[in-house]
Amino acid sequence: MENYTSDSSDNDSANKTLDFSYLSLDGDSFTKYLEDILINNKKTYDEIENISIHHNHFELFPEPLLKFNNLKTLDISSNGLTVLPDIFKCCNLTTFTARNNNLTNESLPKTFSVNYSCRELNLNGNCFTEFPEQILDLINLKYLYLGGNKITSISRNIGKLSNICRTMMLCSLQILSMGGNALTEIPASVGQLKMLHALVLCDNQIECLPSNITQLKHLKSLLLHKNHLRTLPPEIVLLKNLTELSLRDNPLVVRFVSDMTYNPASLLELAARTIKLHNLKIKKWEIPQTLTAYLESGHRCVNPNCQGVYFDNRVEHIKFVDFCGKYRIPLLQYLCSSKCIQGGSCYDVQLSKSHMMRKVLLG
Ligand SMILES: [Zn+2]
Repeated sequence: MENYTSDSSDNDSANKTLDFSYLSLDGDSFTKYLEDILINNKKTYDEIENISIHHNHFELFPEPLLKFNNLKTLDISSNGLTVLPDIFKCCNLTTFTARNNNLTNESLPKTFSVNYSCRELNLNGNCFTEFPEQILDLINLKYLYLGGNKITSISRNIGKLSNICRTMMLCSLQILSMGGNALTEIPASVGQLKMLHALVLCDNQIECLPSNITQLKHLKSLLLHKNHLRTLPPEIVLLKNLTELSLRDNPLVVRFVSDMTYNPASLLELAARTIKLHNLKIKKWEIPQTLTAYLESGHRCVNPNCQGVYFDNRVEHIKFVDFCGKYRIPLLQYLCSSKCIQGGSCYDVQLSKSHMMRKVLLG
């Protein structure tokens, strides 16, 4: 009796897979090696669906790979590859990985064959200086990785990868990963990628985001750390599915952190704080009018566990606050002393109640 277990399906997959990784192969040695492998294993080109050939020495794309007409996944990472032919002409690849090679914009064919099957393309860690427009021929891409290149802008035609009407949203771009490039701005057309779940833009030189980023209703993860952002578009609060928003190492955070030097309070301030703290009664005719006005200018510390007040000498503090229970945003708040920051981890900021807090980063 035939036994259809998961083991048999694993074996099935193994039978369709060739692994040439870490073999120090180059173009000549690969051709011979491949023929021997196919003969020894009684395999034909058409039976093979998955090939791993990463970590070898192929500066040129090994031509024999183009004979595998039923290839679905190919990983040719870490080879020093400088040329890439139209690999989509010969087979219906679903996943193509060519990370950590030496590919430039000149390495690619002018166009790729229009391809409906490719779902994942990974060209991380290459030498692209411009967004490779040819990628937009792979119109059903779901996962696009172009991180760690030197790309200065995202194609204004990126919306081509949003197939809302044509394919019931199943084949629209869901991950766009472009961290570690040289991006300075993001085109508004990114807002057309309606099914995007993750947008990775960290470690670039981005100074602002387009306001129509609010159209990315399915966005869960927005990584913006290590950029030149000074503000965020206020519309970002409309991204109700956002669960991860990284902002560290941007001027909008760093500027406030560096401003947080603590200067000792003046004698005037200390005296005024003592009067307020102990609720000392002072008759108006006893002190000059300017001091009366000064006493009335005091503010309560926002730390609810602190009864303190402050006048001119306040401590600025950035607190990351859960906003609408969905994501965390940095807020600037004022406290009476640095002790209120250290002891402040257990207190909760009441967004609506605290009149001393202002949303400095969303306006
Ligand atoms: Zn305080």
